[in-house]
Amino acid sequence: MRLGGPARYVIEIEAPEEIPSAYAFAASKQLPTFVLGYGANTIGHDEGFNGVIIINRLRGIIEKDATSTSDALREESPSKTVITVMGGEYWDDVVAYACERQLTGIEALSKIPGLTAAAPVQNIGAYGQDISDTLTEIYVYDTTTSTFKTLTKSELGFSYRRSILNSSARDRYFVISITLELHRGQMPRPFYNSIENYISEHHLTDFTPQGIRQIVSTIRAAKLPDPLVKASSGSFFKNVYLDDAAAALAESKGYPVHHGKDGHKINSGWLIEQAGFKGQLLYGFRVNEQATLVLINESATSYADLAKARSAITSKVYDQFGYWLEQEPVEITQP
Ligand SMILES: Cc1cc2nc3c(=O)[nH]c(=O)nc-3n(C[C@H](O)[C@H](O)[C@H](O)COP(=O)(O)OP(=O)(O)OC[C@H]3O[C@@H](n4cnc5c(N)ncnc54)[C@H](O)[C@@H]3O)c2cc1C
Repeated sequence: MRLGGPARYVIEIEAPEEIPSAYAFAASKQLPTFVLGYGANTIGHDEGFNGVIIINRLRGIIEKDATSTSDALREESPSKTVITVMGGEYWDDVVAYACERQLTGIEALSKIPGLTAAAPVQNIGAYGQDISDTLTEIYVYDTTTSTFKTLTKSELGFSYRRSILNSSARDRYFVISITLELHRGQMPRPFYNSIENYISEHHLTDFTPQGIRQIVSTIRAAKLPDPLVKASSGSFFKNVYLDDAAAALAESKGYPVHHGKDGHKINSGWLIEQAGFKGQLLYGFRVNEQATLVLINESATSYADLAKARSAITSKVYDQFGYWLEQEPVEITQP
């Protein structure tokens, strides 16, 4: 978002054994820590952070092809490939790596800015895929017990933009690497609506991981700002999820409710557009024309401007529809 002041200390982790000493350093100074990735989903405050920022710079992808293990496994899943990716790898490079090897499972997550370690934190998702669909486990440093350990998918409590890493166990674990199970093949049809629409408009027939990656990249480039050119955090608000009764009520009022694998949802972008904010400039933040969930920092210089823009949007949407929009990006706050 291009907001926020300086940090007191920054430590970049280049070997797993440096992690305990980074936390010990912060403890010795009695300073709080914050683990940062690429910063695509994080917002700083004007006063900065009087603490220690720790960044995962561990690189590497280790591939374990199921066909090279036991005969039983080969028969059961001839096309499975398991990859373990170090958390400092840029996420889109991992998607490119998988697509080049004709591995399906993460191609719709193309072009999401950020580091791999952050991917499970909010269970990144786009165009019908979530990282939780392919992730089997992560390797972490547990700051509570000062030990290294593996957390399996079932322990991570994944749901829409949520895991224990950004809820019940927030700030407890430093993610070192993640393990994904991918398959040779293609995404099952029907694809996400906007992919299907793009395919029929352009008469496309290549649905290989590379083909879908190309389509998703083109759709995203047309509607989402490049964060290196225009400062944004991607979707600033989460979509609104409703239980059965609330969804029925919303439908009776004529609101567009989508029914998917995560439950009933109303796109928050639709609510923001109906509230009249599409394309508006609010305290230096532009409500993106192409994707109204995205706020672009055009001229704001302080967190206070963001707070005013956020409040203008959430209050009007609440007054008009009765839904309180929840912010997606994380903030670096002084405890
Ligand atoms: C233009 C744009 C488009 C986007 N599109 C999407 C999208 O389609 N789908 C989607 O889901 N998201 C999207 N995002 C949000 C963002 O890209 C993802 O959340 C991404 O995973 C953030 O990665 P990061 O490395 O920048 O994380 P950061 O912003 O640096 O950190 C995010 C959170 O992860 C934690 N974290 C980071 N590294 C570690 C670690 N090693 N261990 C423990 N915790 C850690 C941080 O403490 C913080 O809580 C978009 C953002 C932008 C700017």
